[in-house]
Amino acid sequence: MKFERPEIREADIITCAACGHNLGTMASIREKMNKAYQQLKRPSPARKLQ
Ligand SMILES: [Zn+2]
Repeated sequence: MKFERPEIREADIITCAACGHNLGTMASIREKMNKAYQQLKRPSPARKLQ
């Protein structure tokens, strides 16, 4: 693709700025951040292991 696309979309794959590894899509990163934030606010004893 020749076009530069400055805006970040939900489906874009984000790569680590430091080492370039794949961090997943913008949507998945946003979801992880939201879950982490909710766990900070209200820690759950029934947290799933991953
Ligand atoms: Zn990295």
